Amino acid sequence: MKVLVVGGAGYIGSHMVNALSKKDCKVVVLDDLSGGHRDAVRNADLVVGSLAERERLDRLLGAHKFDAVMHFASFIEVGRSVRDPAAYYRNNLINTLNLLEAMMANGVRRFVFSSTAAIFGEPESSPIDEQHRKAPINPYGHSKLMVEQILSDYAKAYGLESVCLRYFNAAGADAQAGLGERHDPETHLIPLVLQTAAGRREAISIFGTDYDTPDGTCIRDYVHVMDLCDAHWLALQRLLSGTGSGRYNLGNGLGYSVQQVIDTARAVTSREIAVRHEPRRPGDPARLVADSTLARKELGWHPQRAELERIIADAWAWEQQRPLARLADLAA
Ligand code: UDP
Repeated sequence: MKVLVVGGAGYIGSHMVNALSKKDCKVVVLDDLSGGHRDAVRNADLVVGSLAERERLDRLLGAHKFDAVMHFASFIEVGRSVRDPAAYYRNNLINTLNLLEAMMANGVRRFVFSSTAAIFGEPESSPIDEQHRKAPINPYGHSKLMVEQILSDYAKAYGLESVCLRYFNAAGADAQAGLGERHDPETHLIPLVLQTAAGRREAISIFGTDYDTPDGTCIRDYVHVMDLCDAHWLALQRLLSGTGSGRYNLGNGLGYSVQQVIDTARAVTSREIAVRHEPRRPGDPARLVADSTLARKELGWHPQRAELERIIADAWAWEQQRPLARLADLAA
């Protein structure tokens, strides 16, 4: 089987490429390296290029006979999407449209799409299942929901089969494979907490302590990146078996507060972690927890690494080897 992984040099994409190679898939990665890292691409051919280059996409898709495409290459920072929506709509929407058009032109009709809990906006109920109202509150969420809509229309008109996987809070790492989260700048809670534990930052800021939650800090559903890869693999199997398109929320159904994450990180690392209390970050709902019953039922997805301790321990193992990874970056 041959799969094109767009964004395969990034955080989740690089874990997926590694997982696919272990399943004996031939993998080609397309990545512009704007956020990804050359040395994170394992056992795959890397094509450095952008989804903005439509002709190049046609050449790439024409030269290979891909069974499916997985698309991880999008901008993911909510705050930046509010400040610079043009960049978000261009990359997350227009560039994805280029990819879909090139796929249709070259007869590739299976697509696994990285979507997000941000398509739901402010939750009306918790946990959030697939039926929940979709009302994004920022351009990032809108851009992802628009692609989901496009995929429904493409299914009807052109026979494109797709699975949209709505990640809640991706975290953790495959440190044994030398893979982990390497955003620059980093904005996500767990890597920032662990950088503080490692002495790379003075303190972790807690954005808001007056939410309507038991300890006043925001609650999120953290899901291990390797469990997300398992879901992608199952999604691919679903598409290959001809069972049809699907939309799934991916989380563990377990909500942990920012304070609980920091406390767990203190226990896992046995390090001091200084905190700073800051005002709320705009656009943060108090609680985002997934109901993944449908993914369990239809995909057969059973997350193997659901405990927060495990997720943080794996991210910590990666954090401790990160300087080596940085040197590899410089050498590339
Ligand atoms: N958060 C925080 N301090 C930070 C980064 C994040 O308190 O330095 C909070 C953030 O407000 C949210 C939670 O941690 O409530 C998870 O944020 P993250 O950016 O990791 O993921 P998001 O939920 O935005 O996708």
